[in-house]
Formats: sequence, structure tokens, C-alpha cells
Amino acid sequence: MARTRWTIGNWKQNLLRGAAEELATAVVSDLPEPVAEGGKQVRVGIAPSFVALDVLRPWVRPQGPLFLFAQNVAAQEEGAFTGEVGPDMLRDAGVHGAIVGHSERRTLFGETDTTVARKVKLALEADLRVVLCVGEGLEVRESGNHESFVISQLSAALSQLPHELMNERLILAYEPVWAIGTGKTATPRDAAAMHRSLRAWMEKHFGSAGADRSILYGGSVKPNNAAALMAVGDVDGFLVGGASLEAEAFLQIVRLVVSAA
Ligand code: PEP
Repeated sequence: MARTRWTIGNWKQNLLRGAAEELATAVVSDLPEPVAEGGKQVRVGIAPSFVALDVLRPWVRPQGPLFLFAQNVAAQEEGAFTGEVGPDMLRDAGVHGAIVGHSERRTLFGETDTTVARKVKLALEADLRVVLCVGEGLEVRESGNHESFVISQLSAALSQLPHELMNERLILAYEPVWAIGTGKTATPRDAAAMHRSLRAWMEKHFGSAGADRSILYGGSVKPNNAAALMAVGDVDGFLVGGASLEAEAFLQIVRLVVSAA
């Protein structure tokens, strides 16, 4: 079966509720048919702030065309953890999944590989989807150790995961940190090499259940570079930050993901 293609907008700490509603309305009013040529399954997700999640509810699956993601999820099920939002709370709020291990959470909020691994396991156990982000910083890229670094992040993040939880709910995102919000993008060749390594590792450790996972690219994806990145065999779509805050730019990226061969 063909791998599912995703375009997921990460709105980060942007947009008050009114602006979130306006942007979601503009995106939904022009979304292309969600099936790519050849019957490939194509999905579109939005990750607004926690307080705007309910604003997007009218358009979420199964009634509507959007999948709804939180930008984070707690590393514990429930209890005395002030400020945290647990996986069951997200599911109860009608949210489909969560972004886990985004580089901003790792670098700005001190999330460790161990925390990321717990979040991945708990969220998948709660039947949420997980967009697991991995990616190297500039120093690691320049040292030439980027592949082993990213594979070790992936291996750590999945270290607590029982094989039965390896299914389509897990989505990977390769996001080189030096390309996030900087206007620099990995070349299609760089992305191809990393995505190939990630898929090979997934197959080695989880068999076809691992190899069939969607692997998204993220890092300054824009309408003018999305087609070349989609042409790379192992890129199954995008996690989009800045460009997801403009309806037309995001829609153009979605269209490129839908129409890519
Ligand atoms: C991101 O934050 O996940 C991201 C890819 O951001 P940007 O597209 O702005 O680089």
C-alpha cells in the first residue's frame, strides 16, 4: 500500500483565536481533493496553539477535511503536573495527534531523548497520532556526523515502543535544525540521503511496519522549493512552520504534495 502523504502546518505560538479561525477558514475553503493521482492517500493537518484547538473543531475529520494536532503532549498520563496537557485530555478534546520532539522543545525547553520517548509511547498508547521530529543542528551537520546523530535520536525516541504500536499513527519528520525558520533548506539530495537512512533503520528494526511510515521533511518549506523536495522518493510530505501562517502559501504546498508523482 502506498504511504500516506501529509502536509501539516505548525502554527507555533502565533495567532489569537479570531485569527486562527480566519486562517483555518481560508485554508479549508480552497483545499484540493484529498486524493492524489493513483489513489495515494493525502492528508492535511494543522497544529494550532492549545487554546485555539477547539476553534478548528468544525473542520476536523471525519466531518471535515482537517486533522487536528497539538504542538506538544505531556510525558505522563495524569496527575500533579502543573501546566501539562496529557494524551487522554487531547483525545477527549477531539484532537488527532501531537507533534513530539520538535527542536524548539528540545533546545528551548530542555526536552531530552528520554522525555521524547515517553511522550511517543504514551501518546500512541492513547490512540493519538504522533509526528516525531528528529534533526541535527548546524555544528553536527558541519562535522559530517549528521546521519548517526539523527539515527540515534530516532532510536532513542522509539526505544520504549512495543512493536504492536508501530503503525500508521506514527509519522516521522526530519527537520534539520539549521533549516527551521532560517530560510535555508536542505537540498533535495541531503533530504533524500537522510530520509533513505531513516527508512532503512525503520525497516531493520520494525520490518515493513516500520518501513511503511510516512517521513515528512521540515525546514523552511515554501511553495518554491516544495516540488523539488517532493520529487525525492522518500519524502512523503511536509511539516511547515512559517509558510503555514499564510493561507495561499500553505495551500500551494498542499497542492504540490497532492499532485507530486
Ligand atoms: C517547523 O517549525 O517545524 C518548521 C519546519 O518551521 P519553518 O517551516 O518555518 O522552517
